[in-house]
Amino acid sequence: MKTAAESRALLRALEQQHPGADTELRYSTPFELLVATILSAQTTDAGVNAATPALFARYPDAHAVANADPAALEHLIHTTGFFRQKARALVGMAQGLVERHGGAVPASMEALVALPGVGRKTANVVLGHALGVPGLPVDRHVLRVANRIGLAASDDPEVVERQLTAALPRRKWTVASDTLILHGRRVCKPKPLCDRCAVRGGCDAFASGAAGAAAPRKAAPAARAPRPRARRT
Ligand code: SF4
Repeated sequence: MKTAAESRALLRALEQQHPGADTELRYSTPFELLVATILSAQTTDAGVNAATPALFARYPDAHAVANADPAALEHLIHTTGFFRQKARALVGMAQGLVERHGGAVPASMEALVALPGVGRKTANVVLGHALGVPGLPVDRHVLRVANRIGLAASDDPEVVERQLTAALPRRKWTVASDTLILHGRRVCKPKPLCDRCAVRGGCDAFASGAAGAAAPRKAAPAARAPRPRARRT
């Protein structure tokens, strides 16, 4: 696994390749982002963004969702898939917000994951993007890309989150996740496009030819992880 200094350098190179990385979910309040993130399971952000304007117009806050008619709610979100489960999750989450937090979204990991249907990844998305609390969501893209490069070494999202957050300053956590997600969508796909990758010079999978990465033989110059500096005493 990379050292913290190597990880920071590789993330900087990826940030340059994907400047301005941010969540692609559209929202105007923490509650809307919480709803959109729950809806984004097993579907695309574009699909969620197509459904949420009508949903938010009819159910603008936790009180409205908590008292929603299930059939009407399901109808508004059916294009996002798994709509019955998602409707139940939204109502349970909203009822939890109303009962425990007066309808507001709490800025705390512990309080968020205590809500029905809210996992650590969803909580980190909302904390990092809408509540100003650093969070590093680990989705399937972050998991795949971080392991390939050698920024992390685990198939457990919580372990990968700990490994990445240990290497990066808190202010970089959310943008690091957004950057790795974009890299996973655009370049380091399940079948990776290594010839377009800014960090192939420092990528463990590329060096070893693992994970379907192209062989390193004709690589053009690309970002390399820095050599660890001698420790000051
Ligand atoms: S070199 Fe290939 S495997 Fe490594 S991060 Fe880039 S695209 Fe992914």
